[in-house]
Amino acid sequence: MELVINNIQIPVEKDGMDEYLRLAGQRMGLAPEEITVTKILSKALDLRSQEQFYYKMSLVVSTDDKYPNGQKFSPYIHAETAEKKTAQMEERPIIVGFGPAGMFAALELISHGLKPLIFERGKKIEERSVDVERFIKERKLNPESNIQFGEGGAGSYSDGKLFSRRNNNTSTVNRVLKTFVKFGAPPEIEYISKPHLGTDVLCEIVRNIRLHVLERGGDIYYGSRMTDILITGGRARGIVINGEQEFLSSHIFIALGHSARDTVEMMHTRGVAMEQRQISVGVRIEHPVQTINLMRYGKKYNGFPGLGAATYSLNHTNRKIRRGVYTFCMCPGGEVVNASSSEEMLVLNGMSYSDRASNFSNGALVVSCHPSDYKSDSPLAGFSFQKDIEQKAFQAGGGNWSVPAQNLMDFLGEKGSTGVQENSYKMGAVPADMRELFPEFVISELLVAFHKWRGEIPLFISHHAILLGAETRTSSPVRICRNEQFESVNTKNLYPIGEGAGYTGGITSSAADAIKAVEAQLL
Ligand code: FAD
Repeated sequence: MELVINNIQIPVEKDGMDEYLRLAGQRMGLAPEEITVTKILSKALDLRSQEQFYYKMSLVVSTDDKYPNGQKFSPYIHAETAEKKTAQMEERPIIVGFGPAGMFAALELISHGLKPLIFERGKKIEERSVDVERFIKERKLNPESNIQFGEGGAGSYSDGKLFSRRNNNTSTVNRVLKTFVKFGAPPEIEYISKPHLGTDVLCEIVRNIRLHVLERGGDIYYGSRMTDILITGGRARGIVINGEQEFLSSHIFIALGHSARDTVEMMHTRGVAMEQRQISVGVRIEHPVQTINLMRYGKKYNGFPGLGAATYSLNHTNRKIRRGVYTFCMCPGGEVVNASSSEEMLVLNGMSYSDRASNFSNGALVVSCHPSDYKSDSPLAGFSFQKDIEQKAFQAGGGNWSVPAQNLMDFLGEKGSTGVQENSYKMGAVPADMRELFPEFVISELLVAFHKWRGEIPLFISHHAILLGAETRTSSPVRICRNEQFESVNTKNLYPIGEGAGYTGGITSSAADAIKAVEAQLL
């Protein structure tokens, strides 16, 4: 019989199968030789006591069918294979955008025997990577091929964290993780508590997914931007690509991501229902990796093999005005990247490789904004709000894609930095004052949070830290309104999915959203 043994606590020094067997056996009253561990269900690092770090685990253990205490533990139930539903789509379904949402929509459609037509404005991942490198070296942005746009979507050059603040334990999320493993991710992402892939692994997975889609009869058109939607009588009939070619379908999945402002503007002009949505904006904060490791691991475990670069997650809520300050998209052992997709608008993000081995750790540190901060009722007002900050960041950086930067202690002392400390941003950092980039409320909320954390985590609020601006694309400031069937509320046949639709945030939730949207169309 197979039984689930929960809450096994293993000192990190003893991590290994012998210890799993010993502790599971002890719990069951059996010798290690009488059991076999058949599956690891979960493994999370517990850092609560700096005296002793543990892994907390759940295991599936197989033992003799006659084991007398079997009823004390839950039996392990193998996930049932979902009932195969059929898909009735008159024409080949269309997918616009080949990021996580577009890729997982394609995989799901293909698994039901359909052959999607996929349109991606950017290039294949291999060619896109050349453009991303060229931008860093030559400072010439390709607005159609960059860290936001191209095969694999915004997540391709990222830390590849596969967890999000919401929906982290659903069966659909588990399917997403399983699919990543099928296409090249390490198997442990299915059970460790905060899995990540890294840019190197992600790019390989994207390539493998493309090959699978093509093998199964999907078609992918690169350099193909949806420039219009054909709508008649409240029903989308098809799309226009690059202002020239029309493609018709009864099922159009729109998976644009949060940076396709031009496309969302076009959809707004065509009358597709959308509304404002709240976002958060702020800075990237960066420290030497050693500072964060010491802060999180303490003296005893700093440098302990297997723990890797340390992560953190901080938040502070100002209840009076309902604003939160929080860290987001943290990249331990990573680098701060220029994630711009429009000329003269500078936006940052973070990425890492699978080994997370750089000398720096960075995270977004952002303040939540309300739609009322956008100062307009237009559904697209959030774009203007973001653009204003991005333009100021571009100018403050000197107008050549260098980044405006300020040492944290100078920010707290209300003085511009005269020099900036070493950091990971490859296009150069120039001293600036973060107060020039943001509305006043962002600065004042950051200051409140810094002052609170100063006493609690002095290493974080120290001369080791530098602020870089600006972080504005935490999610989409627009929601393309849809119903429970994932269909636009006023345009039939149109299925807005993923981050650009305004219902998800991050790789995993965008992929899961796409799976559910396709499932909702099956009988
Ligand atoms: P996207 O990935 O943005 O994909 C949209 C695609 O649509 C793009 O390829 C774009 O080129 C295409 N497109 C847009 N308009 C058109 C059009 N008109 N016609 C045709 N194609 C179009 N999330 C995490 O969960 N973990 C992380 O560690 C993480 N790190 C990140 C690091 C960076 C540098 C960035 C930029 C983002 C990061 N994110 C991370 C966020 C994550 O990448 C997004 O949440 C996710 O990619 C959203 O998926 P999506 O498919 O909805 O949109």
